[in-house]
Amino acid sequence: MGNKYRVAALLLVILFSACKEATKTPIPIVKVDIPEIEEVKDIIEFGYNLNDFVVKRDTIKSGDSFGQILGRNNVGYSTIHNIVESAKNTFNIRSLQLGKPYTLLCAKDSLETPECFIYQPNPEDYVVIDFKDSIQAYTDKKPINYIEKSATGVINSSISVALEEQGLSPRLAFKLADEIYAWTIDFRRLQKGDRFKVIYTDKYIDDSIYTGVHNVKAAYFEHNSEPFYAFAFETDAEKGIVDYFNDEAKNLRRAFLKAPVQFSRISSRYNLKRRIAVYGYKVRPHKGTDFAAPIGTPIMATANGTVTKSERRGGNGNYVKIRHNATYETQYLHMSKRKVKVGEYVKQGDVIGWVGMTGNTGGPHVCYRFWVNGKQVDPFKQKLPLAKSISDSLKIEYLDFIKPIKEQLDNIPFEVKPELIEEPKGETVRQSNQNLIS
Ligand SMILES: [Zn+2]
Repeated sequence: MGNKYRVAALLLVILFSACKEATKTPIPIVKVDIPEIEEVKDIIEFGYNLNDFVVKRDTIKSGDSFGQILGRNNVGYSTIHNIVESAKNTFNIRSLQLGKPYTLLCAKDSLETPECFIYQPNPEDYVVIDFKDSIQAYTDKKPINYIEKSATGVINSSISVALEEQGLSPRLAFKLADEIYAWTIDFRRLQKGDRFKVIYTDKYIDDSIYTGVHNVKAAYFEHNSEPFYAFAFETDAEKGIVDYFNDEAKNLRRAFLKAPVQFSRISSRYNLKRRIAVYGYKVRPHKGTDFAAPIGTPIMATANGTVTKSERRGGNGNYVKIRHNATYETQYLHMSKRKVKVGEYVKQGDVIGWVGMTGNTGGPHVCYRFWVNGKQVDPFKQKLPLAKSISDSLKIEYLDFIKPIKEQLDNIPFEVKPELIEEPKGETVRQSNQNLIS
């Protein structure tokens, strides 16, 4: 408790003065270490002041059960039984997962009797089973904090490198390249000297645990000296749909998703001159783009359309083909399972099947084929149509909304790297780095 030290110190002072009174003889000076009167700060976690307990933290080990954990901490069998019975509607004690952290809050007595068990299935959520007096079980969330930050960078090789140099999250590069500018800027063909600014929010749990970039509020990318603004804007509050638009309220997204699977890696691009070892290095054109992803990864329709094929056939394995309009069709190969039927209407992002290895394939991936007027082409080389634009009524609201954000963005200075500053000839005085970085 916070007052313990203070009381102890006070007692010592009283004892001393009492002694003085009684003997009236000089007391030899004894050095007494009176603990500094220091406010012991409350340590609040899981809604408890941890100073009130002996705190024991551990992780679920192989073979651990709720009963065993309490048992080896001096809780009797019948008490454990009661706790399990009372808590079972809130928390299934069998769901304890190997490696997940738990905390025991124990009484500050000689037995250190546990009074509360807290289990954390993930960094954000926790389950409390409090059995100090009556038995209470509930789940709660740790306080989340979003902190707005900004970053700038100049491209020398890639955006990841530009961010890495500043110790910024690669997730930011992913968001810019794959989510925001995927349709407007080809990040594989950035120019040296391209530069960017970004305003984003970082997410923290408990003020201390950094969990990564939460979202990008606005960005500015200068590619080939051409400016590209991007502002996050919620177009449908009910569904929570957020899209990115430029400074003229034009959608930055295209009618097609860039990839039919999330967080995948392109393992083979559209290539008419591809040579493959198993075919004796003969030219075997690859008219698709292969996205490697684990078996079972959902495959999404990259645009709205109607399913025209859904079958299993030869080298294609399980595949689905979708007609989007008179011009565009897309096709998805090697699925483990298909989810849609011919004639079904699907929307962009709808799951149409799952990644598999059916047909001719060396590993789990989806071969994505893009058809324009009946011909297979490289989707990355197409000028694809824009996604739905902002409605007229919303446009005014949008332009109002982005005004201060754009100003904020425009006022962020580009960081200037000291080595890029040309030293004036003949001058020996060098500015310190401190002044150059604003
Ligand atoms: Zn392929």
